[in-house]
Amino acid sequence: MKKLVASLSASALVLSGFGLSGAAASPPKQQARTKYPTAIGYGGAVASVDPDATKIGLDVLRRGGNAVDAAVATAAALGVTEPYSAGIGGGGYFVYYNAKQRRVMTIDGRETAPATMPSDAFINPATGQPYKFTPDLVTSGVSVGTPGTVATWDRALRQWGSLSLNKALKPAAELAEDGFVVDPTFRSQTLDNKERFAAIAPTAKLFLPGGDAPKVGTVFKNPELADTYRLIGAKGLPAFYGGALAGEIAATVKNPPKTPGTALPVMPGHLTTADLAKYKVIDRAPTKVRYDGLEVYGMAPSSSGGTTVGEALNILAPLHLDRMETPQALHSYLEASALAFADRGAYVGDPAFVDVPTKELLSPGFGAERSCLIDPAKASVKPLKPGVPDGQYGTCGATTATKEGRDTEGVSTTHLVAADKWGNVVSYTLTIEQTGGSGITVPGRGFLLNNELTDFTTVYAEADPNRIQPGKRPRSSMSPTIVLRDGKPFLALGSPGGSTIITTVLQTLTNRVDRGMTLPEAVAAPRASQRNSAAVTAEPPFIDAYGTALKPFGHTLVPSGDAFTSAAEIGAVAALEILPNGGFLAAAEPTRRGGGSAGTVHQLWPN
Ligand code: GLU
Repeated sequence: MKKLVASLSASALVLSGFGLSGAAASPPKQQARTKYPTAIGYGGAVASVDPDATKIGLDVLRRGGNAVDAAVATAAALGVTEPYSAGIGGGGYFVYYNAKQRRVMTIDGRETAPATMPSDAFINPATGQPYKFTPDLVTSGVSVGTPGTVATWDRALRQWGSLSLNKALKPAAELAEDGFVVDPTFRSQTLDNKERFAAIAPTAKLFLPGGDAPKVGTVFKNPELADTYRLIGAKGLPAFYGGALAGEIAATVKNPPKTPGTALPVMPGHLTTADLAKYKVIDRAPTKVRYDGLEVYGMAPSSSGGTTVGEALNILAPLHLDRMETPQALHSYLEASALAFADRGAYVGDPAFVDVPTKELLSPGFGAERSCLIDPAKASVKPLKPGVPDGQYGTCGATTATKEGRDTEGVSTTHLVAADKWGNVVSYTLTIEQTGGSGITVPGRGFLLNNELTDFTTVYAEADPNRIQPGKRPRSSMSPTIVLRDGKPFLALGSPGGSTIITTVLQTLTNRVDRGMTLPEAVAAPRASQRNSAAVTAEPPFIDAYGTALKPFGHTLVPSGDAFTSAAEIGAVAALEILPNGGFLAAAEPTRRGGGSAGTVHQLWPN
């Protein structure tokens, strides 16, 4: 043990360059909790965007729970403190390394389209044109998919956890009851959504008390959510997917509780109690690619995360980023990402409905064929055409530009990682899609419903793998990832950010693996996202740092930020690294989304 402490302390010294110091005394209830984006220690680790949620996960580990127990408890707490990003009204993807079995397994807890959703649900019959994306589809019952989060928690705990759902939800129920201290991110997210929240009576009542977003420093309580968690804890899955709550969810979607006089349409949707009763999570094999001697595991379709991150790594593998100067490495990263996104758009959808060539998309041969299309000196003209993942590789396939599609995925969501002393690791991304989801709160139940079905392509086209079909899961970009080195867990990471999730995970991985950064440096580094479009979206600090160096390649960098949010951030990573001596380095965002929170069970630094 002495040796472990000594070497972890050495890592702490290295990390002191990040300007992090100080002691985290346990604050009394309802005071802003001290948080650190980086932590080193042993016995297990948790990282998330929120200090209350991370603490709850660590408490579970300290009481003898495993990584799965901690992940579910942390996720439930995020449903309280990050209600606009995730919660029981949404879905997600749970990736798990089982130390006993030495393998990675996943749960697909994605929302599904209702059984009666027509393929033209997003088309206005009066005009024959798609409804306006914002606000018509975004703030709407028509975009609410059957939620998968409660079923994901239940499945994970039953298969791999040691706690009951009741015990795992208890700390989050208490947090909802006692409240948490509002931070600037919560207030600004509420203000960004003020107009549409005001349009829906139970949402206005809960999140705009007195007509305003809760003030920074005040305590926000959600006793109705506490009761909902307690109900689900006591009665289990049937309390959510059946009974009174299911009836209320369906009724709310069918007849959204609009504020009288609101100008927003808030269209009714198709979700029924039969959809809820039928909902099932899916146990899936993970995606897997080898990169630089590592095994990188991700989420298979219905998410495009695992195939797109994996394909991009296969494209980069022959190029050896680790031997390149920074501008060349960034150019290669941007080009590989564009190529992988071209294939994502052409081939990835819900495998229960479309034939997704997952194996070929992830084959090194296909990656190499796509890789040789990268001009080392010049950015290609985007958008690029997809390749042909047919198993016949060898020559450099020609690629030409095609027509640009519209990217309408939200920038919300949340990611968490948890690891325990037995060597189990969880990487879990969950969402209600847009920040604030559909904007529709189930009256008296304290949670927002998702608008995940906006992840379908808006206009139905027979050839589109992501077209609307009843019962189908919309294509996701969520990319919860676990990396093994020599057969043992090395890294776990993921992020929110709609389709930028994929590039954020890819960039963070290459930062850590190829570009000599520590994990906290890799997480903090400024980001750019090339998703097969003419311009690269880049955080302003990325443009400041690399804009000049990337100019000769011909990339057009445009500053990030969109119509929905006040922030110009790309992603918000939560990650952890298992150190060679068995210790943990947990890394959350230092500043994005107001900074995340990382902790370890027996903390060496900061302490
Ligand atoms: N709905 C998105 C997806 O599944 C996530 C939304 C977000 O991160 O904002 O990929």
